[in-house]
Amino acid sequence: MCGIVGYVGKAEAPQALLQGLKRLEYRGYDSAGMATLNGSGLAVRKAVGRIAELEKLVAEEPIHGQTGICHTRWATHGSVTRENAHPHFDRSGKLALVHNGVIENYLELRAALEIDGHFFKSQTDTEVLAHLIGREFDRLKERSKGRLVEALRAALLQVIGTYGIAFIHEDVPGVIIGARRGSPLVLGIGKEENLLASDAAAMVSHTRDVVYLKDYEIVALDAEGFQITTLQGDGAGYVISQVEFSEKDVSKGDYPHYMLKEIFEQPRTVRDAMRGRLAPEEGTAKLGGLEMSNAELRDVERIVISGCGTALHAGMVGEYMIETLAHIPVECEFASELRYRNLPVPKDTLVFVISQSGETADTLAALRECQRKGHRTLGICNNVGSTIARENDGGVYMHAGPEIGVAATKSFTSQLVVQSLVALLLGRITHLSHSEGLNIIRELEKMPDKVAKVLELNDRIARIAKKYAQSKVMLFMGRQFNYPIALEGALKVKETSYIAASAHPSAELKHGVIALIDESTPSVFIAPRDAVFEKNLSNIEEVKARKGPVIAIGTEGDDRLAQVADDVILVPEAPDFLTPILMVIPLQLLAYHIAVELGRDVDKPRNLAKSVTVE
Ligand code: GLU
Repeated sequence: MCGIVGYVGKAEAPQALLQGLKRLEYRGYDSAGMATLNGSGLAVRKAVGRIAELEKLVAEEPIHGQTGICHTRWATHGSVTRENAHPHFDRSGKLALVHNGVIENYLELRAALEIDGHFFKSQTDTEVLAHLIGREFDRLKERSKGRLVEALRAALLQVIGTYGIAFIHEDVPGVIIGARRGSPLVLGIGKEENLLASDAAAMVSHTRDVVYLKDYEIVALDAEGFQITTLQGDGAGYVISQVEFSEKDVSKGDYPHYMLKEIFEQPRTVRDAMRGRLAPEEGTAKLGGLEMSNAELRDVERIVISGCGTALHAGMVGEYMIETLAHIPVECEFASELRYRNLPVPKDTLVFVISQSGETADTLAALRECQRKGHRTLGICNNVGSTIARENDGGVYMHAGPEIGVAATKSFTSQLVVQSLVALLLGRITHLSHSEGLNIIRELEKMPDKVAKVLELNDRIARIAKKYAQSKVMLFMGRQFNYPIALEGALKVKETSYIAASAHPSAELKHGVIALIDESTPSVFIAPRDAVFEKNLSNIEEVKARKGPVIAIGTEGDDRLAQVADDVILVPEAPDFLTPILMVIPLQLLAYHIAVELGRDVDKPRNLAKSVTVE
């Protein structure tokens, strides 16, 4: 987490930095700071709170310069204070540094530096990095860009941990140095200006030409150009990519929140996830990015799907989809567990990792662990050029466009669509006939319009949300394909509203959860007219018999839910395996409206950050 931006060029850096930093607020928002080089030295501003606080401070006490760095923090080491906010400085006070990541051996390094006479002003791991680089630089006589890079190399060789860093030094004006290991860093190539940021979204108003830096790479940039080298000191090859999205895609437009905008983008993002990938003539899906022939796919005996949070819930739906359509055993595992678990994974196992950002630290670690064990790994990512996308043996992009609301919405439905395509492809290789495959394609093609129809229920869902917003506890129940949707619904409510919400397979109720039911505890049932509809109805009756209020999400044309539930939301019919795509949208809207009703900061829920790049 944490967002970094660096700017060097002809414009005033503070404005460019603030504009970029606001695009990265999803990455962390407990404090923010910036430093610029203004001709006579470093100028610094730091503020606790949102980026708006920093912006206010810079407006009241302006700083200037055409070179600068800034940071929005999601604290890992040291509480949220002005002292702990980045940038941090070296002993001389001439070097300012911002960091995303965790320096694991910072206590030892700090103790050694203290013996050497260094004094620390913060509790962060980051400050140690600034001191280390500064000490190495001060040992060198020449004050040049090359020497700054040399000092950085010497410092990084002592460091264990993850970092995306950017720093500037008073003695070498007009230069920014960056480096990465485990945290993202993107170089933006402009006209007489260059930028550095954690995410390309921070730079699109300046340029769409970017280089996604790789681990152990160092970049030195000034207004005229840049050099990329490796930690070992060799020159590094690089590819200049074009960012697919524009400034418009990263702004809220007329919506009050990114979350609502992104929920409403789903008819398009669901379509984009399948665009060019359906092959009706062959009754299958075409996923060239998997980099696997049909013969290789046929040899797959088992699949492991891994991810964190929302991506894991999507993977759980994928498990049902692939098992149903392709009859291949699938296991879905938390990435944070998989990375440390010695899972007995047989040969011919295919591993899928799912991550919207493509930078999720636990997911990346799980992927590397599976590769270490010799398994082929494939990624389902949204961010093109992200670390997970690059390190996988192949994969499928979601093409959902930038997701900025911290609570994931559109990326979830894109992940479901992508996995339904994987399931279709695998099914067609094994036992699905052409006409069965074609039927699935026809159903998939109808999904964007059905999603648009679900969105028409927004006002009704807002009214229902108002009714239940004061609940202390909420329960979410679903079965089969829609049990993971119950989990996702509960997660949305927890993260945006801070209401204690838990999710269970509906039939598990009577094994314990039913003790929670009373008149003030609403249960949300995801009950499409599918193979387990009758069973869900009985579970709803069990709740009603104990006076628990029930909100039921069902299928259009159904009149039985209305007889038992207090509030009913009906969405268009779809084959069982596609119902999760429709069922989750009312839950996203419900969570959104409850959060708004409670006055929560919907796009930036407390303690959370998107793109969890720390373990
Ligand atoms: N470890 C640094 C801090 O606590 C950076 C945290 C992060 O990247 O999220 O300030």
